[in-house]
Amino acid sequence: MSLTTSQNIHIDKIESSRIDQVDFNNLTFGNIFTDYMFECDYKEGAWHKPTIKPYGPLTISPAAKIFHYGQAVFEGMKAYKDTNDRVFLFRPEENFKRINKSAKRMAIPEFPRDIFFDAMHQIINLDRAWIKPGVGNSLYIRPFVIATQVGVSASPSNEYKFMILLSPAQAYYSGAVKVVIAEEYSRSANGGVGYAKAAGNYGAQFYPTNLAREKGFQQVIWTDSNEHKYLEEAGTMNVFFRINDTLITAPTSDRILDGVTRKSVIALAEHDGINVEVRPILVSEIVEAAKNNELKEIFGAGTAAVISPVSAFSYKNVTYDLPNLEAGYASQFKKRLTNIQHNLAEDPFNWRYEISK
Ligand SMILES: *Cc1c(COP(=O)(O)O)cnc(C)c1O
Repeated sequence: MSLTTSQNIHIDKIESSRIDQVDFNNLTFGNIFTDYMFECDYKEGAWHKPTIKPYGPLTISPAAKIFHYGQAVFEGMKAYKDTNDRVFLFRPEENFKRINKSAKRMAIPEFPRDIFFDAMHQIINLDRAWIKPGVGNSLYIRPFVIATQVGVSASPSNEYKFMILLSPAQAYYSGAVKVVIAEEYSRSANGGVGYAKAAGNYGAQFYPTNLAREKGFQQVIWTDSNEHKYLEEAGTMNVFFRINDTLITAPTSDRILDGVTRKSVIALAEHDGINVEVRPILVSEIVEAAKNNELKEIFGAGTAAVISPVSAFSYKNVTYDLPNLEAGYASQFKKRLTNIQHNLAEDPFNWRYEISK
């Protein structure tokens, strides 16, 4: 359905770049955007007029369905530059497949593969100067789709806008975070949209996360919605636990997002001969392991922060501190991944995808 054939992307050039106004040494995540954005509209059953134009505001009717029913999905990817000015994406095919998986769940038409990759190549090349070399520097890529049909009847939109925004980024989430294990709230449920990068999932997390912040914690570890017995995700990241030398993470399901970083950590760990268990993880088992000093690490995994170590967790108002490991799995995987992403290490799984000039 709705797949148009290859179309030329129209490019509307900027008059002058804004790059000189940006302090690349003091970037906060996700609030500065490059010179260009990509836009493509869906109407009458097809995607039309793929266009790259100067980054700027949109004009949308206040009655557009996105504002009323939240029909919106997104992706999060990054481009990395090596010291020879070569630019790479990391496993972009996974993001392409996932945005369409998310779209399907939200009754949004799929976006064509050829336009997705053609748009990526062209916009990244136009904004190539915004990608700084060096581990920690990257260009965050935010593809997203919103429902644009005018009308407040509660039914799927028949018009959509697909866009790509680019935002220069530096290392994000510095330092270890303290987390609360969810005992009341849930981010997703069986049969729900937890596996999709659907906008509303994130809006729904803010309130319980604020409650955790008020208690001095930065993030929530989400548990299953039925019994709050199983550990599922940490904030907007997948979560890993290390008990002694075994690495454990929950299996993906309709409640858990199938993260590219998660899959990559599992593959690297297995490649390195680390014992990996992908299985449901009981809260009680982690609490026990913490009490017995067998819980060595907890870390989140996701594109934005790569690996985010946890320094402590709270459960039933008891805080459990984790050991401060200098050379733990978290720092090991962060290094392995960022070195592959920046073309500083062998890429045994062919994860790099070059954006040639
Ligand atoms: C995006 C996301 C992740 C991480 O996925 P990556 O592909 O590794 O970036 C994990 N959990 C949730 C809920 C997410 O939205």
